[in-house]
Amino acid sequence: MKVRQIIYAAKFEGSPKESDFKIVDEDLGDQLKENEFFYEAIYISCDPYVRLLSDSYIVGKTTIPGYQLAKVLESKNPKFPSDSILVMNVGWRTGGKSDGSDVWYDRTDIPKNVPMSAGVGIFAMTGLTAYYGVNYVLKPKAGDTILVSGSAGAVGTVVGQLAKGMGCRVIGSCGSMEKIKFVKSVGFDDAFNYKTESVAEGLKRLAPKGVDLYFDNVGGSFSSAVLESMNKGGRVACCGAVSSYNSKVPAQAPVIQGTMALNSLSLQGFNIFDDIPAYADEIYVALKQWAGEGKLKQHEYLTSGFESLPSTFIGMLRGKNFGKTIVNM
Ligand code: NDP
Repeated sequence: MKVRQIIYAAKFEGSPKESDFKIVDEDLGDQLKENEFFYEAIYISCDPYVRLLSDSYIVGKTTIPGYQLAKVLESKNPKFPSDSILVMNVGWRTGGKSDGSDVWYDRTDIPKNVPMSAGVGIFAMTGLTAYYGVNYVLKPKAGDTILVSGSAGAVGTVVGQLAKGMGCRVIGSCGSMEKIKFVKSVGFDDAFNYKTESVAEGLKRLAPKGVDLYFDNVGGSFSSAVLESMNKGGRVACCGAVSSYNSKVPAQAPVIQGTMALNSLSLQGFNIFDDIPAYADEIYVALKQWAGEGKLKQHEYLTSGFESLPSTFIGMLRGKNFGKTIVNM
């Protein structure tokens, strides 16, 4: 089997460039040992953590990390027979040979009424992260006001739908007027453009009684400012800090501890690798139920072709995407 992968060709300086990536061919032969299988990528996910983790990559060697929805082509592994649909944590590659150790989730049972690309969106890292952050960290009750930063993105659009379905008033922040329209169409009550309106102004206008819960996708000075508008006992789910991932110099933000103490705020970080695995199965069942009832939809920004991965990734970090960024093979 012949496959292609994309490797880290030059160190990212600020925003990645297309020349930082290189496509490399690989011949895996045609023989399988016991428990091995060949798979082929169907959809590859584009994620901000690929930029966040880049200090650990080796130039000229590291395959760009990432996960994909893949189909098993031929198998000597009874657990993953031919035609299985798997979420594989194998990096940016068109396919490969596996012994099953890099299978993240088996998604052969994706409901027929949901697009298969949900296997890298609402039914994979994106949906699991959003669901965990909402239900296990923020624990909203009906009537709470929740702010979601990065609201028009992959995680943000799922958080908005979940919080709305739980009876919250859901406010978003995002980077353009088009995105405000988009998040309202997804179910948000309202949103403001953080590029043209300050956090204080936006929240005074859209959440005059204060914010009870904050799902934080962006971090930095934006998020420090949000704390000033939070109600006593407010909770923050710290999911990521995409506002700083492309920074050439370490990001700086105002000191938050005084505000946190005065208003009895709590902030909890969590991540897909350490905190969520123990709950992944029960969350998947819940996500399928939400999707089956039509209360959770996949909103996606889809591009085509393996070679478009670098430009799609660069564009996503700059805010080109509406919803989940996916490359269709
Ligand atoms: P998104 O789909 O939200 O894409 C990234 C978005 O970031 C862009 O669309 C852009 O939207 C926004 N952005 C870029 N620069 C800035 C900036 N300076 N300030 C504010 N927003 C900016 O990505 P994901 O939904 O996949 O990820 C969202 C967050 O969740 C990230 O921080 C990511 O690292 C984190 N995450 C964490 C996980 C965990 O386990 N904790 C798992 C998965 C994701 P705009 O046009 O609105 O600026």
